[in-house]
Amino acid sequence: MSDDGIDAATPLMFLKPRRDDKKLISKAPNHFDGLQIGASDSSSVVEMVKNVGKPFFIDPMAYMFTLPPEAVTDFETHKVRASLSSLAHRYSSLLGQTIGKRAISTDDIINQVDVLDDTTRNALEYQRSKISGQLNLFPMTSYYDKYRLLDDSEDSKPVTPNAVLPCMVIAPYFHFKDTSSPWYTATIRCAKLASRYIQTGERLYTTLLIDPHLLDFPDQIRSIITEVAALSIDGVFIWVNGMDEESAPVSRLTNLLFLISELKAKGKSVIKMHGGYFSILMNSYGLDGFSCNLSYRTSRNIMSYRWKAPKVPRSKFYVPQLHCAYDIEEAAHILKMFPFTRCRCAVCREAYGNDFDKMQQSMKEKGFCESHFLNTRKQELNFTRSGRKDAIAALDTTISLLGQHNINGARHISKWRKTIADFEALAH
Ligand SMILES: [Zn+2]
Repeated sequence: MSDDGIDAATPLMFLKPRRDDKKLISKAPNHFDGLQIGASDSSSVVEMVKNVGKPFFIDPMAYMFTLPPEAVTDFETHKVRASLSSLAHRYSSLLGQTIGKRAISTDDIINQVDVLDDTTRNALEYQRSKISGQLNLFPMTSYYDKYRLLDDSEDSKPVTPNAVLPCMVIAPYFHFKDTSSPWYTATIRCAKLASRYIQTGERLYTTLLIDPHLLDFPDQIRSIITEVAALSIDGVFIWVNGMDEESAPVSRLTNLLFLISELKAKGKSVIKMHGGYFSILMNSYGLDGFSCNLSYRTSRNIMSYRWKAPKVPRSKFYVPQLHCAYDIEEAAHILKMFPFTRCRCAVCREAYGNDFDKMQQSMKEKGFCESHFLNTRKQELNFTRSGRKDAIAALDTTISLLGQHNINGARHISKWRKTIADFEALAH
């Protein structure tokens, strides 16, 4: 058990609830280790966190206030979103005055020394009180009501009833392109300020919200490692803005692995935001955990406010042996063609068995693809207990079974394999 009281034999998986899957998540407490929620999340999320009773952390989301006003306004009403407005007022008077009018600039934080200090102190305080600040009106019974299609096992981890304090607090952080950016300086400054305001027993983390291009520059990565390792913090979240694990170039993934393993070697706990199977593979190189949501995407872009998400996202099916999600029609084709990719989880057995034409209809049922994903992810996490060698051998087997067939979107398996090979060559 780690200091957080969480079983760390496998990477920790924190689920980030989306609006529509709170119910499913609350019925699957044995399929994840904890929850990631946002400081601006609604009271219904707060209720869910209390009901589930698992460890959680709260993203302070201060980077939102450095984005143009469109990022904090509602796409349809064009009004500032109430949750973000109240967060801005809570963090600092400057943020309260400027929200919806303009982004805060680096001049603001340089000229007004109080801004970062206030924001840091208030963001920590808000993380302590967001869940505990409201009376727990709900009895801790919901997680005994197991979702009937979710596989369960005897090694289920115990939940922590009445968990109301975050398992770590996070200093405010900002998106930066390189180490000469004032936003990098501001991120480090907030981490230093936060270490002064930390309370007994609290674990403090910072977050490196970096541009993918930064991973092209080993010198910059080294200077970040040196600076972050010297901070009085327990751990680091890493969020590579908009870079997914499937399409990222091998060179960037290798440098990401270097960043993670070095921070870990220097005594920091490291957790990746928006991770997938590659994050599970990185566990044996130092990554302690990752967060993800039930869209199965392994990236998030802070500029995504510029495009509107489709109202009804197309159902995607996560193909177990390829560790990646595909449109259901394409997934059915893959499962038919390559028997080794088929799934035998409770959802798949009940929904379609071996009838892949039926699968295309039955898996579109609400929550089926997501429940199948949770079952599959649990198997993936259990598999990593057998160690690095087996995980690498499994990638090799998949590559050889795919052979010369050029499955659209399966190149990431070879890329991950090459990344591991490159990184190990670098380490020796
Ligand atoms: Zn399945």
